[in-house]
Amino acid sequence: MTVNTRVLINDFTYHVPSTLAEALGFLDQYGEDAAVLAGGTDLIIQMKLGRRSPKFLVDVSKLEELKHLEAGEKILIGAGRRYMDVLPFLQGLGRYHGLAEAIDSIGKLQVLSVATVGGNLGNGSPAADTPPPLMTYDASVRVRSAHQERVVPLREFHTGPGAIVLAPNEIIVAVEFDAFPDGRASAFRKLTRVASDISKVTCAVAVERAGETCTHCRIALGAVGPTPLRARSAEAALEGREVDASAVEECARLIVEEISPIDDIRCSEKYRREAAGVLFRDAFASAWERAKC
Ligand SMILES: Cc1cc2nc3c(=O)[nH]c(=O)nc-3n(C[C@H](O)[C@H](O)[C@H](O)COP(=O)(O)OP(=O)(O)OC[C@H]3O[C@@H](n4cnc5c(N)ncnc54)[C@H](O)[C@@H]3O)c2cc1C
Repeated sequence: MTVNTRVLINDFTYHVPSTLAEALGFLDQYGEDAAVLAGGTDLIIQMKLGRRSPKFLVDVSKLEELKHLEAGEKILIGAGRRYMDVLPFLQGLGRYHGLAEAIDSIGKLQVLSVATVGGNLGNGSPAADTPPPLMTYDASVRVRSAHQERVVPLREFHTGPGAIVLAPNEIIVAVEFDAFPDGRASAFRKLTRVASDISKVTCAVAVERAGETCTHCRIALGAVGPTPLRARSAEAALEGREVDASAVEECARLIVEEISPIDDIRCSEKYRREAAGVLFRDAFASAWERAKC
């Protein structure tokens, strides 16, 4: 059957609440029959393809409670903030290059103008671009239901392809992470088929250095396993060690062994393994250099 991606094939009731409490009330009432709508750049496509058919759409784009952009001891990014607002915010802070590079690589203007970080997390794709840099920042996801608020470490948020820990009555309110100490820096690298496409492989790195010694290391990758993942054995191999070419090569080798990519329409498992090592070397070199300043 040919799918017409221009039309929404199922009927639904559309709600545009003006407060978070109202939105949470709808989700509590409708449960699994409802879906949260932010920019719609994932959800509406899935509805047009018939992969999802919620009976109720709860549009969160008007909720001020999801629009935080704060920089203090913690950096707080509201789930409902569009990328086109988050990107200049991060660029203005000048320290969180990895996340800024990931956002800058997404879609292009039409997508950046409407899509949100909350949607990128809510969609649960292992190939999504913001989770790897956020994982290297040890970020957490702030989640609310009508009954409670909880803070979930991002490393526990994804449970499988398209699967996350969110209950049907919960809304992602924000993502947050500790402000970087001096001497920490990050970078992100990505490979795609064409510019405006989902990633084939991504790699994010955050490092801290004392001279030539790496005192803190986080490495995360996307599209190389069922969820975005941390390369923990590679991190352990670098942390506390003097950085030279052989240390970086050992890490790249550990990453290639640690990931579990698949063959799919975008590229082969073998290509992904080799590309992961290449992207890591490049992202690491960039973050390491930035950490010098
Ligand atoms: C042309 C094109 C190019 C793209 N390129 C990229 C790319 O380069 N990299 C990339 O990572 N993605 C890309 N995407 C995918 C998409 O744009 C992103 O994942 C985007 O961040 C989704 O955000 P959204 O606000 O549009 O989410 P929506 O589509 O509104 O929602 C996505 C999912 O998250 C849930 N959700 C949204 N907000 C919340 C919330 N606050 N609380 C709970 N659940 C929520 C929704 O219910 C839905 O399940 C692209 C999409 C298109 C159409």
